[in-house]
Amino acid sequence: MTSPLPVAEALERVLASAGEPPASQQVPLLDARGRVLAEDVIAPVAVPGCDNSAMDGYALRAVDAGQPLPVRQRIPAGGSAGPLAPGTAARIFTGAPVPPGADAVVMQEDCVERDGVVTVAGPVQPGDNIRPRGQDIAEGATVLARGRLLRPQDLGLLASVGRAQVAVRRPLRVAVLSTGDELVEPGAVALAPGQQFNSNRYTLAGLLLGMGMEFVDGGIVPDDPEATAAALQWAAGAADCVITSGGVSVGEEDHVKQQVARLGRLELWKLALKPGKPLAFGRIGATPFLGLPGNPTSVFVTFCLIARPFLRRLQGVDEPALPPLRAAAGFSVARPGSRQDYLRVTLQPDGAGLRALPYPNQSSGVLSSVSRSSALAIVPAGVTVAPGDLVEVLLLDLLAGGP
Ligand code: AMP
Ligand code: MG
Repeated sequence: MTSPLPVAEALERVLASAGEPPASQQVPLLDARGRVLAEDVIAPVAVPGCDNSAMDGYALRAVDAGQPLPVRQRIPAGGSAGPLAPGTAARIFTGAPVPPGADAVVMQEDCVERDGVVTVAGPVQPGDNIRPRGQDIAEGATVLARGRLLRPQDLGLLASVGRAQVAVRRPLRVAVLSTGDELVEPGAVALAPGQQFNSNRYTLAGLLLGMGMEFVDGGIVPDDPEATAAALQWAAGAADCVITSGGVSVGEEDHVKQQVARLGRLELWKLALKPGKPLAFGRIGATPFLGLPGNPTSVFVTFCLIARPFLRRLQGVDEPALPPLRAAAGFSVARPGSRQDYLRVTLQPDGAGLRALPYPNQSSGVLSSVSRSSALAIVPAGVTVAPGDLVEVLLLDLLAGGP
């Protein structure tokens, strides 16, 4: 290992190695949420398809508004409109097509209709309460571009231009191996001294499923070179990417790095990151490999910072990063650290902004610090923080759930 690698640099190197996304497939729109668009969707129609009324009211010519106007048509939503003669009005409802010749709609609350004649209160401007054809989407416009991670509102947008199916990437298959002789699956009745339950498998499965990916379960792998090699080879054949937890540290019981180096190629980094540190990256045959640390809190943080953006890129996501959020520090850092620290914090409203209150125990062995927090607050290496200073925060619900 050489000198500690900044997180941003590690991420850049990892992202640069991502190859082609998986093949595309057609899916019904109802199955497309959380999938990655594999085509540019061009609108075959305008939305809305015609000028239509934004109100229940009366359609007329703006220049006629000062005089009583006989009501000659009634146009409900879904109805059709005949031409509007000058000096007349049409009763109209929200979403109904504006009759040719009319250039404004007056809401019914501003009108009085008696004996088939309507009188309008107040001035009227051309264009009032009319939603013009194509105001949302012009015919021929790109509705959504390839690489878009489809949100619920995107499905509505695709439906609005008439799409019932859409081409998306096949979900990435990600194999997870939990290494460690001390590990026991939850459900076992009792732990022998020195054993512990395998928590990383569940954290990683949840993170992957939350990203719309397939979790390929490699279970627990013992700290043994042959077993490790066999598990890695199986995983590389079964998945688009292999992720391990543990076994990439410096001890002689850490077999993952040697076996990956033997089966493919490996880079081993000491990240300038807290909680975190060791990260292995490489290939097993042609399959990308990420070796996360073993420590459950480090696993979570390293996954969110490095593995998650890498997997998104492998999956074919092409979206600009969200701008950073900031909060006022509800803590201080008196001594500058040598690694970028991701403090587990809870965000609370604070005036017009947010305040980040630290979880009392920031030890990297305390997984409850992640579970009981709502964000990670970033304290860069070499920096001190005074209470009230603005710090960058990453929302855990976005890292571990949302898009
Ligand atoms: P390692 O990098 O393999 O030395 O693991 C570092 C620490 O993380 C040790 O205390 C391990 O017991 C713990 N650890 C490793 N894997 C897991 C896991 N799957 N679940 C819970 N703790 C783990
Ligand atoms: Mg281990």
